[in-house]
Amino acid sequence: MTASRVTGIGQNPGMASRREGDTWDLASSVGATATMAAAARAIATRSDPARIDDRFAEPLVRAVGVDLLTRLASGETPPGDLVEQVWIDVAKVRTGFYDAFFRESAVPQVVILGAGLDSRAYRLPWPAGTVVYEVDRPEVLEFKTRTLAELGAEPAADRRVVPADLREDWPAALRDAGFDPSRPTAWSAEGLLGYLPPEAQDRLLDVITGLSAEGSRLATENRPNPRPGDEARTKAGLDRISGRWREQRFDTDMAKLRYYGERHDVETYLAARGWVLTASTVRELLAAHGLAPLGDDDLRTGDVRYVSGVLPRR
Ligand code: SAM
Repeated sequence: MTASRVTGIGQNPGMASRREGDTWDLASSVGATATMAAAARAIATRSDPARIDDRFAEPLVRAVGVDLLTRLASGETPPGDLVEQVWIDVAKVRTGFYDAFFRESAVPQVVILGAGLDSRAYRLPWPAGTVVYEVDRPEVLEFKTRTLAELGAEPAADRRVVPADLREDWPAALRDAGFDPSRPTAWSAEGLLGYLPPEAQDRLLDVITGLSAEGSRLATENRPNPRPGDEARTKAGLDRISGRWREQRFDTDMAKLRYYGERHDVETYLAARGWVLTASTVRELLAAHGLAPLGDDDLRTGDVRYVSGVLPRR
């Protein structure tokens, strides 16, 4: 694969914050979404330890140093109206979904794309010999590696970091880290696709497929394309939360971090490339875990599908 850069920003008019080649750390832009996801896991771990156990989430958020997220993660500030309950509940079912996916995968190599503050390489019971590759921006991976080492945490697998931008030639960096495309792989893209432009999502799924030996597995999310009015409602909801956070001196503009508009349906796209998939909606997973049903404002969140599957013999 040759190096290529994203050129699809023009499809997102009004997206002032995202641009070709933009960069971030864990306190800024898209990087802050990784810290927010970890903060939600920390809140969920404290409030519902029977369902989720991410013991590294809170110290990682604390180390990033965004005061509001630290206070929320540590429990000093209750979520109240600063963190929607649905985010906390989704953190529970989402973490459980991906944890189960990896526990059941039983393949020798794992690639966690857009790893952020995911600590699965440290906290899951990997079979001996498993190699876990984590791909994310260099600033993100360097920070996580250093912080977890300072905390005395040790990886439970052969963890290898792949500092790269997923809009560029990341497969070269993955191979340089030792990835072997002739062996089956378990891939995850958790909370990632909406932060990639549509054509970068397609390219990512193509590359994953091209690098997947028979028996490889994949887990990700499939957000249905928006109906009229959906995006305006999503943005208004994110603006509301961003406003409350700004009042707490955390200056972020969540609505500007994602890419909007039509994109290929993930399951249709992958099925056409040979993947055999199953999926559950967020609504189904919440119900299966006995968690509260979604309110009227969150109905589209309930339609998001958690997808996993296998690439059989081609
Ligand atoms: N998967 C993690 C989780 O669920 O906690 C992090 C999710 S966070 C919402 C999105 C992550 O994707 C961030 O860590 C961000 O740095 C990463 N990411 C987004 N776009 C990326 C890109 N173009 N290249 C590398 N990483 C990217």
